[in-house]
Parts: sequence; C-alpha cells; structure tokens
Amino acid sequence: MNKKHIALLGSTGSIGVQTLDVIKQNPDLFIAEVITANSNADLLIKQAREFMPNAVVITNETHYNKVRDALSDLPVKVYAGQDALSQITEMGTVDIVVTAVVGSVGLKPTLAAIEAGKPVAIANKETLVVAGELVTNAARIKGVNLYPIDSEHSAIAQCITGEPNSIHKILLTASGGPFRGYSKNDLKAVSPKQALKHPTWNMGAKITIDSASMMNKGLEVIEARWLFDVSPEQIEVVVHPQSIIHSMVEFEDGSVKAQLGDPDMRIPIQYALSYPKRLKSQFTNFNIFDHSPLTFEKPDPENFRNLALAYQALKQEGNMPCILNAANEIAVDAFLNEQISFTGMSDVIEHCMKNITHISRPGLQDLLETDNETRALASSVIKNNKLK
Ligand code: NDP
Ligand code: MG
Repeated sequence: MNKKHIALLGSTGSIGVQTLDVIKQNPDLFIAEVITANSNADLLIKQAREFMPNAVVITNETHYNKVRDALSDLPVKVYAGQDALSQITEMGTVDIVVTAVVGSVGLKPTLAAIEAGKPVAIANKETLVVAGELVTNAARIKGVNLYPIDSEHSAIAQCITGEPNSIHKILLTASGGPFRGYSKNDLKAVSPKQALKHPTWNMGAKITIDSASMMNKGLEVIEARWLFDVSPEQIEVVVHPQSIIHSMVEFEDGSVKAQLGDPDMRIPIQYALSYPKRLKSQFTNFNIFDHSPLTFEKPDPENFRNLALAYQALKQEGNMPCILNAANEIAVDAFLNEQISFTGMSDVIEHCMKNITHISRPGLQDLLETDNETRALASSVIKNNKLK
C-alpha cells in the first residue's frame, strides 16, 4: 500500500505532537510530508530532524533565519509566513492535510486544501465554527472528505458508519471541566492556573480554558451541526465527567449507539488518518471495569453562559458564530493574561454578539472582516475596561 503523505499544520501543539506519534507508530502507512509551527522554532527544528519532512513552515517570520540555518544540512525546504500555510497544502506530494493549528487562522489553509482536492482531517474546530457552511459546501462541491479528529465528532462518525438511516439526535458528551457544579460567584473568582487543570484531558492552553468555560462544548455543537448536517435542536449536550463515552447517536427507532474508549486523542487522530479502516493501537488497552460507574448530568447553561451563547449564535446563523468565536479567542487570551475574570469572558462575547453587525449570508470576505472587527471590538472593551 502507498504511504499517506501528511501535511500537519500545527505540529508543535498538543494535537500536532500526538499526530507525529501516530505517524511514528505506523511508519509503513504514514509520512510527515510537511510540518508547521508558529513560533516554537526549537521544537519544529527537532521534529524536522527526526521526521525528515519534505518541507517545514514557520508562520512567525521572525524565526525564519533560525529554522533555515538549523536545517541547512538537510534536504528540507523551509518556508515562512501565514500564506505559506495555505500554499503547502496544495503541494502535489501531499495526500491529506491535518489541521491542528488553534483558532480561526486555520480557515484559509483549510479552504486552500479543499480547493486543491485534498482530504482534511480537522482538529481545528474554530474553522468550522467561523465558516462551517462555506467549508462543508466547498468540500461537497469538490468531492473532498472531511475527517473529524475532535473525539466527540470522531465518536459520532464511528456511530453512523454503515448506517443507512439519518441521525435522529446527537448526544454530545462533555466532561464538565474542572468547575462542574460551581456557582456564578465561585466562577467569578477562579484563576487561570485553576482553569488550566483539566480533569481528564491534557490539551493546549486555549482549548483547556474553553473546556473549563464550556465554550469548547458550544464550539463543538456548532462543529457537529456542520459536519453532520443536523439542526441545533438535534444536538443535546450531556455532561459525562468520566470522558469514557465520547458521544452517542440516537436513531429513529429509539436505538442509541455510543463509542467508548480511554481519553487518548491518538485514537481519533489515528482513525481520521486510516478511515474507514481501524489500525492496531499500540497506545492503550481499554478495560471497562476500570471505569465504573459512568454517570450523566444535564449541563448548566445558566452559570456556564458560553454554552447558551453558542446555541444562540448557531440559531442566529450567518456571521454570528464567527463573532462568538473571535470574541472568545480574544477573551481567552485576556483571561490567561489576567486582564478579565473567568465570567468576564462571557461578558465580552455577549457584548460583541450584540454590537457587531449581523450578516445573514456572509461570504468568505465578510467572515474575514467580521473576524477582524470582532477582535478589535473585544480588545477595546477589555482594554478600556468597559464591562464592569
Ligand atoms: P496548541 O496550542 O497545543 O497548539 C497549537 C498549534 O498551532 C501549535 O503548533 C502552534 O504553533 C500553532 N499555531 C498557533 N498560532 C498559530 C498561528 N497564528 N498561525 C499558525 N500556527 C499557529 O493547541 P491544541 O493542539 O490543543 O489544539 C489545536 C486545535 O485542535 C484547536 O483548534 C483545538 O480546539 C483542537 N482540539 C484539540 C484537542 C486537544 O486534545 N488538544 C482535542 C480536540 C480538538 P507554536 O507551537 O509555534 O505556537
Ligand atoms: Mg472535543
């Protein structure tokens, strides 16, 4: 079998490193054709020396000379800049693109990959939140497959594989994060350090804060809406603190299928790369007796307002999910830098959703402008301390 040549966007992040681990465990199946980082030049150089890709990209251009000089003895091409991320997805030698960058910067390279006819394994959920309709339409027109990496969406894809019937309802599981059961007042006082400690998953900083605030689940509801072509009413969030059931699908006959496994992202990453086949995993042996009992609760959108805001954005459609996402990216950054409180993040998002012009059928340019405008507004309300 021919090896799959993978362009891995964001190889230095949590998903990126785990994707390289999957590649390393399956040298007969996968090759890292391109790897990319934003500013972690040292790790990118180390990865390039180990995996010997055809090319590397460092998007933050100030690190270009360092990376080029460090790899000058190897036949590895070195590119820099944000546009290079899109250009390398079009390389003839790339078979599949893995989007493991964080934030809406993933949008342009994802669209470029689809335009070039390359299948995309998507970890970068923000892209589907910002432009889910555009991206899934482009993929349909081009006949390009999108493979979810997010564990919940991988679970849903696994539940519907082989099913001729459509989905009646998605039961999207959530761990509830480290602050499950907290009151509004408790939440106001939590620090970035507390929020960065996730009970079941070890992830990058932004998604860890999103998980603590339930925004991650909100983003995932929007991601599911587009990946599986269901309405917001067909997606129900279920808090399941053990993170063993990764999501469930209910069919019309009342039957519910679930996918279970240890909380290890290498399993859905590997499935996205080997779909529809399963590969023998060297990572983990699941033992259900280690996980008793499995419990379920309703979410608390009153105290975790981000979840309610995400449903609202999805129902308002158009550029509203893009506004939600951009405001959240700025708010998370500000919370991590101790400029706003944990609950202040929802205030910033709500303010942007109320004040940025709604566009009901946005094109790509509208979305890029909305993204910029929202970031500017969110930054200015935070800087001027306009919200309390
Ligand atoms: P990390 O923060 O760990 O990694 C982000 C990666 O993106 C790094 O390689 C980083 O480079 C790169 N990057 C950051 N900013 C830019 C930029 N402006 N331009 C280009 N590249 C950039 O994130 P995660 O791996 O945790 O998450 C990646 C995506 O996957 C997110 O969308 C997240 O929601 C999603 N996801 C993550 C899961 C997880 O378990 N971590 C689970 C499910 C989904 P550098 O290192 O140089 O900064
Ligand atoms: Mg997830």
